[in-house]
Amino acid sequence: MDLVSPQPFWPLKNGLLGIYPSLREDVRCDVVILGGGISGALMAERLSEEGLDVVLVEKRDVGAGSTSASTALLQYEIDTPLVELTGLYGIEKAERAYRLCHDSIDEIERLVDKLDVECAFQRKKSVYLASRRRDAKLLREECAARQAAGIDVTYLDVADISARFSFSREAALVSTQGAELDCYVLTHALLKRSVQNGARVFDKTIIEKTEPGADGVRLTTDRGCVIQAKQAVFATGYESQDFLPRKVVSLKSTYALASEPLEAFPGWWEQCLLWETARPYLYLRTTNDRRALIGGEDDAFRNPVRRDALVDRKTDRIADKFRELFPAIELDVAFRWAGTFGETKDGLAYIGSIRQMPRCHFVLGFGGNGITYSVIAADLIRDAILGRANSDAEIFRFDR
Ligand SMILES: Cc1cc2nc3c(=O)[nH]c(=O)nc-3n(C[C@H](O)[C@H](O)[C@H](O)COP(=O)(O)OP(=O)(O)OC[C@H]3O[C@@H](n4cnc5c(N)ncnc54)[C@H](O)[C@@H]3O)c2cc1C
Repeated sequence: MDLVSPQPFWPLKNGLLGIYPSLREDVRCDVVILGGGISGALMAERLSEEGLDVVLVEKRDVGAGSTSASTALLQYEIDTPLVELTGLYGIEKAERAYRLCHDSIDEIERLVDKLDVECAFQRKKSVYLASRRRDAKLLREECAARQAAGIDVTYLDVADISARFSFSREAALVSTQGAELDCYVLTHALLKRSVQNGARVFDKTIIEKTEPGADGVRLTTDRGCVIQAKQAVFATGYESQDFLPRKVVSLKSTYALASEPLEAFPGWWEQCLLWETARPYLYLRTTNDRRALIGGEDDAFRNPVRRDALVDRKTDRIADKFRELFPAIELDVAFRWAGTFGETKDGLAYIGSIRQMPRCHFVLGFGGNGITYSVIAADLIRDAILGRANSDAEIFRFDR
């Protein structure tokens, strides 16, 4: 699958930060991880810190999948509002899902500090805008539900919004918990640490066959090498559907742009993270080199040829929407790209295993807050592999 259009922003900005050999012999290990994006890298770090013998296999270059295209807004906010999620699964599970996403941002900050990596991690407020007047009522209810769950969130009305921004909206929610980062750099740093911990990383190696058995999992690569592992973790992102017996994700296309560095940000309160109630939504942040990073205009198909042909038109539309919001900011588009994107029916990730594939674990952080899901998954799957009970596994299991 072609996950991203040519030349997404982060690899152009950072270059190739790490290269690894491809696998050319048979190997054995405790755990094999398929996929060297942010999910696989977080997993490798967690498992190698536990002293497990880890092999990670990536079919492209490390970080060259969806991770290279991510706008990397770190939000605890799930695409499905807390009120709606409560209707689906009850208050306890819904609040817990929000709490886990909330805390995973703190966890990323801890990791960034621990690895001492310069990956432009910065705490930011997250502002959720009412796209239509009538969404104000939904936001009031959502605000009350989140506050009751112990989340620091405030309701803004028209006057509050006009005092902070160059545009007007009927309502918005401001959350203090939010952040932004360079996910591509963090991915490479996590894998470097994993290698220091003894993990073996191979890129340009495709897993073509997976045979789970009673004693372990046997995987065969495109060069015919065999990996014999006690357990396997599929951190294969939007391509994971190929390994699963039933459809769990709707694949779409999303579009993004990075501006030239901006002199100033008039009308953009604290350069907060911004998104909105409309579906699909516009999502915005800034970078540490003073760019605006904006995404949206999602399409309900994933055909990469069709998607890539639309990059200019879609990103022009995104730029126009930005100019409507911030007329005093002179936006010049510097980079444009598109990527495949996945959503689940309830906005929750799928993390865990399926009956048909024993000793295999899946990290499918689908949804707008995919990165926070990957952080949650690293803990849940580590516990499953080590045989530790974790009651949170219930929330993200496949047969929910
Ligand atoms: C344009 C865009 C904007 C986004 N914005 C945000 C955002 O603001 N905030 C947020 O939280 N999330 C965002 N996301 C989602 C987020 O980027 C993803 O959730 C995250 O990058 C997924 O990481 P991953 O490691 O699971 O997948 P990937 O980065 O795709 O990594 C999976 C890897 O598995 C490898 N692989 C697949 N099959 C095999 C195989 N058979 N053998 C070996 N290797 C294999 C692939 O090559 C790939 O590198 C965005 C996504 C896109 C496309």
